[in-house]
Amino acid sequence: MKQANHAREGFGLYIHVPYCLQRCSYCDFFTMPLGENRSDQFSPYLRALHQEIIALGKEWLDRPIRTVFLGGGTPSLLTPKELGEVFDCVRQYWEFVDDAEITIEINPDTMTPEKAQGYLDVGVNRASMGVQSLNPEGLKLLGRFHSVDRAKRCYETLRDAGFSNVSCDMIYGWPGQTVEGWSQELTELLTWGTDHLSLYELILERGTPMTRAVNKGELVLPSEEESLEMFRVTRSITQDVGMQWYEISNYAQPGRESRHNVDNWRGSDYLGVGPGAHSFRALPELGARRANPRNMPKYLEQPTASPWNNRSREEVVTEAMMFGLRLREGWTPQLVEQLYGMELYEPLVEASQPLVEDGLLLEPSDRFQLTERGAEVLDEVVGFLVSALESTSSILQVDI
Ligand code: SF4
Repeated sequence: MKQANHAREGFGLYIHVPYCLQRCSYCDFFTMPLGENRSDQFSPYLRALHQEIIALGKEWLDRPIRTVFLGGGTPSLLTPKELGEVFDCVRQYWEFVDDAEITIEINPDTMTPEKAQGYLDVGVNRASMGVQSLNPEGLKLLGRFHSVDRAKRCYETLRDAGFSNVSCDMIYGWPGQTVEGWSQELTELLTWGTDHLSLYELILERGTPMTRAVNKGELVLPSEEESLEMFRVTRSITQDVGMQWYEISNYAQPGRESRHNVDNWRGSDYLGVGPGAHSFRALPELGARRANPRNMPKYLEQPTASPWNNRSREEVVTEAMMFGLRLREGWTPQLVEQLYGMELYEPLVEASQPLVEDGLLLEPSDRFQLTERGAEVLDEVVGFLVSALESTSSILQVDI
């Protein structure tokens, strides 16, 4: 994978589509069910989205787009025509690099051969399908409406239309799932020939029906040991078919890593449009973040109102490590040092020694890399390093 260079290369564009056919039992994303009259929801949303793109197009960086990611919600509820019009609006302000990666998330219940062809025609070249489980019981518990068969047919539809780059998302660790059951699901999925996999352990988010059922004792999650074993068998099963893990939850055939996400994890700029979307720019000064409201009426009323919030030195370092260490290639402080003039490498080598001795980090070379055990406790590793930097040097306290 080629390292992105902040200063000269392009940026990533994220477009949030906040509607779903129904809400899955584990989901806390910013999304709402599609009502009976689609255009009552989509027309104002698309109008606001265009307004936001136009406003940002006038102020955002004069650099090309390297990647686009349509996430949600369910972006595959957009028609190819609507998506083409969004891209036309984007192209008024930015060029796309020649080999721009353009990904759309797909829900199996929304796909037809015509739609798949339409997406390709407007420039989409990567599909990321939410499969989530190949066990009917798992799909039911997760609140997914599609069947296993429907997911398989959707995958074939995408391939038949000509999608040469398809990713599948799966969730493991749902109530009642066994290590053996997860191994079987994953092994079966790999026979489809997917290019990329995002494999997430089920997380109990606050306020979801799944969380309520677990808290009431109606559902029981696999034990911690079983979950860890699922994570470990995932690594070994994917490796057996030549898929490499390149980020804690992501696996790819060589050259099929998600460029959009890798750029984000390496600290590149991205612009997020749509309700609930986030943006990041590394410069000027210590960089800034922007978060759109997770509130549809508010977004529709003022789609361009979200402010940019400057970062502190502590945020710069915490975020860079939190994202960079997710990657198998590890994290180098070089970019932070260059952009912000912080001398981080030597203090971090010293601060990291207890983590190396505990087997959570590899001995630093020019970069810092988690071990397999470290990957299971990323938050703690980053928290430890930031506290150690705070207590041993003044590097996080002085604002430039
Ligand atoms: S389809 Fe995705 S975004 Fe929509 S409710 Fe389900 S998990 Fe959430």
